[in-house]
Amino acid sequence: MVVRLKNMAILMSMVLLAAFFVVAGNERLQGGEEGQFVDGPFVPGPFAPGEAVLVTGDNQYIKWVDFNVSYEALCAAYDLDVGSYDQPVHLNWIELLAYVGAKNGGSFGSNAVSALEKVATELSEGSITMAELTSDMEYYDYYYQAYEAVLGGMVGEFEIERETETGEKIWTKLYGLKAFLPIAHGFPYSDYDDFGVSRSYGYSRNHLGHDMMGQVGTPIIAIESGYVEALGWNQYGGWRIGIRSFDEKRYYYYAHLRQNFPYAEGLEEGSVVTAGDVIGYMGHTGYSTTENTNNIKTVHLHWGMQLIFDESQKEGNNEIWVDCYDLTRFLYKNRSRAIKVGESKEWDRVFQMRDPTVLKWENDGLP
Ligand SMILES: [Zn+2]
Repeated sequence: MVVRLKNMAILMSMVLLAAFFVVAGNERLQGGEEGQFVDGPFVPGPFAPGEAVLVTGDNQYIKWVDFNVSYEALCAAYDLDVGSYDQPVHLNWIELLAYVGAKNGGSFGSNAVSALEKVATELSEGSITMAELTSDMEYYDYYYQAYEAVLGGMVGEFEIERETETGEKIWTKLYGLKAFLPIAHGFPYSDYDDFGVSRSYGYSRNHLGHDMMGQVGTPIIAIESGYVEALGWNQYGGWRIGIRSFDEKRYYYYAHLRQNFPYAEGLEEGSVVTAGDVIGYMGHTGYSTTENTNNIKTVHLHWGMQLIFDESQKEGNNEIWVDCYDLTRFLYKNRSRAIKVGESKEWDRVFQMRDPTVLKWENDGLP
């Protein structure tokens, strides 16, 4: 994946040129809040994995990801992982998806599910390992890292409250999907595949997220646990929340929240949230430099997922936003119940959850 330049002079001039663009890019964004949390003005690439990008020394990180894993493949790989949890060979859904992705150049067509099942059968028999299977696959590592960045915090062990037949709440320990649909259980919404379609407010750009149309006040749920990295007004997203996963690879962006009462009580920058928590309320704020303005025609949640392999990708021209439509369909499996708090406009989650990643973060500040 490294471009080998024989001529050191060319290498040095390219490094200097790259440094210039980094400086120039930063300057453009130093102007304050406005530039910092936009949906992302540029869609670079797509680059083929391994395509020429200048990487030197420690600077090797993924520059682009097209996340085209289908809903069907997500479900199949997930079922294989969870279904083999207590088996001699515990299949890993991300490895399975990376294997099929690497085989098919990142596309997941109608044969993806059978390809997943085939490799799962081979691995389950125990005669071959994934390391052996992929030893001569040039792009397996790329796909593994890319898919792990998207899906890495979504499946694992956790504890959650359940209701018994007598209406008592008890804690249960589970292994499985611990990420949630961003819309609370029972609240209606509609959506369609709208990633990449054009938008024109402010400047011409592509839609780097997924819209879920619903009603004002619908509780918005934290998809994954993490900490609040951004919260407040943005002229594009209106009242918005940005939550970073503890491994720092994912930035979840929730936008157009409710006028006057956008956020869950007490939520602020630095707050730690657990997947399934109510973090805010659906609305139609945004598209205005004036705070608290309802200037979006259709009431909806915009949510986006940005991947960060290197902090330099967080803001500016090198942002990676992935298509989360199929992921949203997949997350429908897991919806958090919320209950209204008295006569207030506030909602609370019904079933509390203990996510090991939250406990680890709170105990030692490490993912
Ligand atoms: Zn949107």
